[in-house]
Amino acid sequence: MLIVMKPEHTEEQLSKVVEEIHKMEFKAHVLPGKNSVAIGITGNVNPISEDFFTTMHGVHETIKVTKPFKLAGKEFSKGNLEIKVGPVTFDDKSFVIMAGPCAVESEEQTIRIAKKVKAAGAHILRGGAYKPRSSPYAFQGMGIEGLKILQKASKETGLPVITEALDFISLEGVVEYADIIQIGTRNMQNFSLLQEVGKTNKPVMLKRGFSATIEEWLMAAEYILDSGNPNVILCERGLRSYDQNTRNLLDITAVPVAKQLSRLPVVIDPSHSTGRKYLVEPVSRASLAIGANGIIVDVHDKPHEALVDGPQALLPDEFIEMVKVLKSIGKAIDINL
Ligand code: PEP
Ligand code: MN
Repeated sequence: MLIVMKPEHTEEQLSKVVEEIHKMEFKAHVLPGKNSVAIGITGNVNPISEDFFTTMHGVHETIKVTKPFKLAGKEFSKGNLEIKVGPVTFDDKSFVIMAGPCAVESEEQTIRIAKKVKAAGAHILRGGAYKPRSSPYAFQGMGIEGLKILQKASKETGLPVITEALDFISLEGVVEYADIIQIGTRNMQNFSLLQEVGKTNKPVMLKRGFSATIEEWLMAAEYILDSGNPNVILCERGLRSYDQNTRNLLDITAVPVAKQLSRLPVVIDPSHSTGRKYLVEPVSRASLAIGANGIIVDVHDKPHEALVDGPQALLPDEFIEMVKVLKSIGKAIDINL
């Protein structure tokens, strides 16, 4: 619920309303506006009695917020969320390119590829140090060593780093060494992890669960926002389906739908959604055209030797060509790359 104060309300009346919300053990979000002040309430499971607040001094009206994702939604705040990560900004004027190997395999490999994607025009370096693998026998990632390598690659190239936190233990290191915390598709509804990530001060990229509805995805984002972290980026990475021609079924409409329902930036993963490198460029072009705020792309210079996801990785030269194409589209539609 949203409580709108009268333009002439006093500080005392505002504090009294906030105090009553706290007494109910809900959270109060004071939202100063041009002519008045509104207070958003979160934390309530059931509807709150409007009468209680409308009879309080200084209150103009109460408005029911129908969407359950109150912080991710548009009701509380004007305009879309802008997220700054070092020199990079996720906003509606820019298209952010995150690129790098699926996994950190060695210091030499990571720094070599980081330099190549930087030279091609990437804004952020990706690379997994903790890998969620279907098989327990497959390469699980370099762990903390991998995080240190990513930090080194970041220092050498100036690129901020995004990497996945799998659980509470890996999260500690990811918060220390990375610039953006990635929550993978398999953890989208790991609510205790989402709450823990919400207590950190690093931006979070939340991948959509491979069978999650858009509402479930936004509610997962809500967990992070409600735990105190205001910076969440959504990432569409394809849904589980039956056709074998692509690894997943990319829901490209999720971009305008999520942007219509929420104020969060939305990016696309053309690599994990398709699993085929020939599809990465067309999907990236479509991502830019449909209004996504960026992409996260696998790039590897020795895909045949890659320990994870070699077949979907672009070669550096292919990535260079793709960035050129994206830049020319960006120019035509007034989006910075
Ligand atoms: C990844 O980006 O490395 C990854 C594992 O992606 P997803 O969680 O989308 O499968
Ligand atoms: Mn991968």
